[in-house]
Amino acid sequence: MPLILIVADGARFDTIDAATRDGALPALARLRAEGALRPVATAFPSVTGIAYAPFLTGRFPGPAGLPGLRWFDRAHSRCSRPPYARSYLGAQMRHLDEDLTPGVPTLFELAPSRFNAMSMLGRGTRGRERIGRDARTLLRVARTHWMGDVNGWNALDRAVARESTRRVIAQRPAFACIAMLGLDKASHAFGHESSCAREALEAIDVSVGELRDALERAGRWSETTLWIVSDHGHSRVSAHDDLVHVVRAAGYSVLSHPWLLARRAMVAVMVGGNAMAHLYVELDRRVRAGWSALRERWEPLASALLERESVDLVILHHGDMRTEVRAHGRGSAMIECANGRFSYHPVDGDPLGVGRELHALDSREAYDVLADGDYPDAIVQIAQLAASARSGDIILSAAPQWDFREKWEPIPHVSTHGSLHREHMMVPLLTNRPLSGHPRRTADVMPSALATLGLPAMAGLDGESFV
Ligand SMILES: [Zn+2]
Repeated sequence: MPLILIVADGARFDTIDAATRDGALPALARLRAEGALRPVATAFPSVTGIAYAPFLTGRFPGPAGLPGLRWFDRAHSRCSRPPYARSYLGAQMRHLDEDLTPGVPTLFELAPSRFNAMSMLGRGTRGRERIGRDARTLLRVARTHWMGDVNGWNALDRAVARESTRRVIAQRPAFACIAMLGLDKASHAFGHESSCAREALEAIDVSVGELRDALERAGRWSETTLWIVSDHGHSRVSAHDDLVHVVRAAGYSVLSHPWLLARRAMVAVMVGGNAMAHLYVELDRRVRAGWSALRERWEPLASALLERESVDLVILHHGDMRTEVRAHGRGSAMIECANGRFSYHPVDGDPLGVGRELHALDSREAYDVLADGDYPDAIVQIAQLAASARSGDIILSAAPQWDFREKWEPIPHVSTHGSLHREHMMVPLLTNRPLSGHPRRTADVMPSALATLGLPAMAGLDGESFV
């Protein structure tokens, strides 16, 4: 059965929940009435492009080789020249598909036919199979992005949706992914509850309504599966703590975007979201050392960061699938992952608010334990990201109301995402048919898509089918 996946980029679960009850979004409310709306957790870091990997590949960002919106390529595996720094904002966006771990296929590659509108991650699509990579759209996107033109994003969403509907009807792709980006931009600029964000949501609703009408007229609605998902939520930010200044003030020379010429930099600061960051130290090491090897020299920096009001969690990978998590004012714990089983050992506190020690839970149990807490799925998400060879030596998740980047954003950020907080992690999964299974994560979308498309199930995925 053909599947259309619509990405309402930046939509929080509670936002969609409320707006499909109060009559504001009639097309989505109708889908909900006929199908289902469920909360699911996205992945860490909860940021666009990176957090598309779970629903397009079934893998979390760490194993997918996409640790963040910005990252430092310590191994020089993907960046062959200095400064070995990736940012998927701007020209390097085109590298996202190749940076994705080669053995991790996308739904575009697996489906018998495909269509991609505006997904940054699009490996397996080319030419008429996609919108968003042609020169005209790229120019329009670049202009809208760098001018900080929020209304332009909503207009772009509507134009992309109309063209996507036309192509879905004409080309009959087995799998289509249509990403709508206006809500994220409006939320950053004016807040997730702003009237501009509401207009962006309405643009999604109208577009979904038009797509449905077109499929009904073509006699194909009853045989089409339509899911709406998001890649991250949003929350208000009242203060920016520019990490580059913080690390510099602590006496270290810094490599960061857009200042990439720093020779002999001691710390690479890679912020994305902007409520998370990877910090890389000892940049000459081609292989990441565990925290045990770095502690003596770098503990002062980690401690100083944890003291900051802006920092909520400091995550330090010790190697051997052991990761330390420290919370500002709430002590530390060790997360262990062995053979797909997760443990949580409080050391001198309970940073994730679990309330007890956990032993060898499978990934479902580890999810369910934290489902109602402040850090949904944090145990699994910290383990998957910290274990990536491409991740930083120090990983930060920001405190509520804070993010880590003061300048160099074309759209002013009054709202942010990227962290492990509930408001960033919980996103909607809206389906046009009732669900019998129990979706937990956006990573569950991909194996469910394989089942819907009649494709063989795949081993080694981070998600589980809810179909
Ligand atoms: Zn965003």
